[in-house]
Amino acid sequence: MDHINYELDITDEDLELKGAAHKFAKDVLRPAGIKIDRMTAEEATSADSPLFEVMRQATELGYNRMGAPENMGGSVVSPLAAVLVNEELAWGNMGLAGAIGLSSAHASIAMALGSEEIKEEFARPFFECTDGSIIGCWAVTEPDHGSDTLGVMQPEMVVKARGQLIARKTGDDYILNGQKAAWVSNGPIATHAMLNVHLDPDNTLDQGGICLLPLNLPGISRGKPLDKLGVRAMTQGEIFFDDVRIPKRYMLLDQTMFAPYMNIHLAMFNAGVGTFATGLARAAYDAAYDYAQNRIQGGKPIIEHQSVRARLFRMFTLLQTCQSLSRGVFVYNATAMKRGVAVRLEHSIASKVYCTNSALEIATLGLQLHGGNGMTKEYPCEMFVRDATALTVADGENAYLAQLAASML
Ligand SMILES: Cc1cc2nc3c(=O)[nH]c(=O)nc-3n(C[C@H](O)[C@H](O)[C@H](O)COP(=O)(O)OP(=O)(O)OC[C@H]3O[C@@H](n4cnc5c(N)ncnc54)[C@H](O)[C@@H]3O)c2cc1C
Repeated sequence: MDHINYELDITDEDLELKGAAHKFAKDVLRPAGIKIDRMTAEEATSADSPLFEVMRQATELGYNRMGAPENMGGSVVSPLAAVLVNEELAWGNMGLAGAIGLSSAHASIAMALGSEEIKEEFARPFFECTDGSIIGCWAVTEPDHGSDTLGVMQPEMVVKARGQLIARKTGDDYILNGQKAAWVSNGPIATHAMLNVHLDPDNTLDQGGICLLPLNLPGISRGKPLDKLGVRAMTQGEIFFDDVRIPKRYMLLDQTMFAPYMNIHLAMFNAGVGTFATGLARAAYDAAYDYAQNRIQGGKPIIEHQSVRARLFRMFTLLQTCQSLSRGVFVYNATAMKRGVAVRLEHSIASKVYCTNSALEIATLGLQLHGGNGMTKEYPCEMFVRDATALTVADGENAYLAQLAASML
């Protein structure tokens, strides 16, 4: 059973981008992702890690600069083309697709919210860089505030607690003190951050702000790279702030716009995770389908057994549903944002939760179809299960996100 694109009007140009991304995913991301998955967290972030060569090549090919403005060397890419490319990158390796996608976090928010000066300082250097040496991250989670940091746009989910990264205004500057959790993706390798801070620390967690900063300022240090179950090629780690001084122009928004902006930001990120999960689910389906055609048991390829076909059909149905939902939601919300129309967070959450849960079911069925071989490192299917598991928690744990979306109905 071939998975097909239901969008019959996909342009030849979009299909060409998808094809090129698939080749990069197959030739570069899949082998490098498997290699990094087996390294320690320290090896994965060391100067000679293949991660940096992947970032260089991805940047050279423009995969982290698809939203670049034309006057900064970008070209117009439709939201659908961006989805098609991201699905392919995640098909190659979920961790590396995440690292590539997040590397533009600071530049994208500079374009969305920054003054001309901020765009020149943060966005232009990133978009014009072709060697992958500028890497961004989004640091929001704190050791004691994970889910709590994400529900700030919904009054009934807002929590009163002391935040752990405080920004205090003094004259024309802000002074940052505290830390972000070990969950910051790209944390160990990032040169820049989009950073959530608390502006009124003893109040509720919706009293936040978002700033941009280079991560080489005095007073910034990092923790040990995190050793974790899945998406191991997307390295993670803590960032500490000790009296870090930033000019007030780096504070892109304060309490007045914090909650509405978090609504938009989470909507775009959750929609993105839905498309990544679809790519990962397809990788797991493809691997199981190939294996079932070649593994002989009961005197014939296992694909000829009814119960194997039934499982493949279940995987196929979930996959095509993920593809339709995640593409539709991403294209809708990206287009809405461009047109200045309200984005729909609850739809993005539906896509994120459905697609990551389905990716985990597809990956688990795929592993079982490999029998004992599925447990070994000879086949990538055990990595697909670990990566899909990680996605059910990334960008909001699924049960929490479902509760957040339900509160909007
Ligand atoms: C692969 C991966 C990538 C990530 N990338 C980043 C990143 O780039 N930047 C970043 O800052 N963070 C990142 N994170 C962190 C991620 O956003 C958090 O892990 C997530 O929001 C959950 O927070 P937590 O781990 O503190 O769990 P908790 O919030 O402690 O949740 C634990 C459990 O309690 C439940 N729970 C919590 N609150 C409620 C509630 N109010 N009602 C009902 N149930 C509740 C949750 O559903 C969950 O099952 C990443 C995480 C992963 C796994």
